[in-house]
Amino acid sequence: MRPSMILFALFWVLLSAWPAEAARRVSVVATVPDVGAVVAAVGGDDIALVVMAEPTQDPHFVDARPHLALQLSRADLLVAVGLDLEVGWLPRLQVGARQPDIQVGRLGYLEVGPFSQLLEIPRTRLDRSFGDLHASGNPHVMLDPRNAARIAIGVADRLARIDPERAQAYRDRARRFKVESDRVAAAWQARSRAIPLERRRMVTYHRSLSYLANWLSIEVVDTLEPQPGIAPTPAHIKDVLARIPAMGVPLLAQEPWYPERVADLVARRTGIRRVTLPVLEDATRSDAYMLWVEATARMVCGGLEL
Ligand SMILES: [Zn+2]
Repeated sequence: MRPSMILFALFWVLLSAWPAEAARRVSVVATVPDVGAVVAAVGGDDIALVVMAEPTQDPHFVDARPHLALQLSRADLLVAVGLDLEVGWLPRLQVGARQPDIQVGRLGYLEVGPFSQLLEIPRTRLDRSFGDLHASGNPHVMLDPRNAARIAIGVADRLARIDPERAQAYRDRARRFKVESDRVAAAWQARSRAIPLERRRMVTYHRSLSYLANWLSIEVVDTLEPQPGIAPTPAHIKDVLARIPAMGVPLLAQEPWYPERVADLVARRTGIRRVTLPVLEDATRSDAYMLWVEATARMVCGGLEL
């Protein structure tokens, strides 16, 4: 064969190999950073991930910016928590995206909250006029690595159905994620159980730390909000101010998107330690979830310890 023919043949070999090499990555949109970080750990380099909410945004109220609808219109898979967490902002965007595959009930739409062991499921469906934002059970499931592991496996199953060629890679990553989750869950349980039981108590702003409290055997004695989604009222704060010294509660924890004024007042009046929980930065990194959940556990345990 002449050299030019060899080159020609090589060209065709390369060209035929190219499409498999550059197979399109699955385009995934996650609603909130903590879910996005689990998706990133499971999807690895096989997916292109976009997270809708900013790390410092309240997940109940995400601004419906126009570029989010554009991201959704190109997505193969939309991953949400569900349990009404995103009910105030996601359905509108989902419909506006005009992408049939990511609508409710389709293969390209996955709610991961129900993979968790749910807490605080109301016995009766509450009237929304009472401001109840947790009508399907507490949706803040991600601050328990055992839930995150269940969610990782659920995400891997769905990615495997959408992208069967790389099914094994998704399942392998989810298995590794679960091993790491189990290790982290046990390590922080050990640290928390070394804290005297009477100090394992905290007040939170919103009822968003129930899963972390359940994981680390901590009691959430009260919340600054009288009910989920209802701003603190003077009458309720008066009760909280009385309960903190009466029960010897050492810690008040809240997310950065809640106003600090009331927490400052409570801290001033009672001397309680006050912490603002870490945000989950750069959810597209595959180690972002574990870094965040450990940073949160470290801050809470550190706040409860003498
Ligand atoms: Zn909530």
